Amino acid sequence: MSRVHNFSAGPAALPLEVLETIRNDIPDWLGTGMSVMEVSHRGKDFVELAARAEQNVRELMAIPDDYSVLFTQGGATMQMAMAPLNLTAPGDTVDYVITGSWGRKAVGEAKKFCDVNVAADASDRNFTYIPEEATWSRSDDAAYLHITPNETIAGVEFNFVPAGSVPIVADMSSNILSRPIDVKDYGVIYAGAQKNIGPAGITLVVVRNDLLERARPDNAHLMTWKSYAESDSMTNTPPTFAWYVADLVFRWLKDMGGVEAIANVNERKAAKLYGAIDASVFYSNPVAPECRSRMNVPFILADDSLDGRFLEESAAAGLANLKGHRSVGGMRASIYNAVSEDAVDTLIDFMTEFERVNG
Ligand SMILES: *Cc1c(COP(=O)(O)O)cnc(C)c1O
Repeated sequence: MSRVHNFSAGPAALPLEVLETIRNDIPDWLGTGMSVMEVSHRGKDFVELAARAEQNVRELMAIPDDYSVLFTQGGATMQMAMAPLNLTAPGDTVDYVITGSWGRKAVGEAKKFCDVNVAADASDRNFTYIPEEATWSRSDDAAYLHITPNETIAGVEFNFVPAGSVPIVADMSSNILSRPIDVKDYGVIYAGAQKNIGPAGITLVVVRNDLLERARPDNAHLMTWKSYAESDSMTNTPPTFAWYVADLVFRWLKDMGGVEAIANVNERKAAKLYGAIDASVFYSNPVAPECRSRMNVPFILADDSLDGRFLEESAAAGLANLKGHRSVGGMRASIYNAVSEDAVDTLIDFMTEFERVNG
């Protein structure tokens, strides 16, 4: 077996321990003589798994009792529609802060259902900064404020929580479980699984219970958070395999010492990589230092005619998926929870050697 260091932005690396458990479990899960993909989601074993996954994510994120934990399909993108459909009536105003491509996409969805006020927009500087809160123009009567705490493509991350009593809806797809947060600061948190939770196909939604009452009465059943809250997320057949893997990842994270422990590792990984980039004239990162993402690290080569060689040689050295997003160019190393410190050290060694030979 040969595994590479995988810097994919998503679907992203999973812990090897989790993959090995899956391999062992597949033919005969828990002595049932069946795989987890072949059993009823209403059976005792799966219901236990679902309850444990919820309990573990509650512990990991310290989720208060007055919040519901939901698992849905449709990815983060479906939540971009579900947020307005569950929190507004037609004609209501909502505030959005756009700090990257995903925030912009969220605005596009919300506009179909309510009146969107863009309170701040960082596209004027190519999404390389978070506009200062004092410069935002928020409305007086917003039903909620939507932010993207980590923008996966340009690599910018909030280092503060916006002020005020309006519920904050946060797309945490690419930084969920990467560091401690205070859930009480948010009304709704949502995250597609395929970065820090598990495989694509399942989405985590954490919502304050009083907000469940605001859904549009004509909303489709599966687009209504309350349907999930009332059915333990089994309102229809859930994505059982993805849920099973998410449960293994939550257990792995607990074994690693939880969110606080992984946050320290993440902090070190990011500091090393940005440090190496900043120390060179060969590589650079355009993001304002105080809002650089600890999960997604884009960098460009001073001489972009070397991009092809960098990608070819890094891949040959076992460093996969370093190509940057087409809208940014250059490279991007996504260093989520399951990407080890050793992987980051190996990347930095490769970058140093590549610069020595080609610089
Ligand atoms: C990956 C990502 C998405 C898209 O998630 P899907 O599950 O594909 O819908 C949305 N927002 C952010 C911040 C992401 O990183």
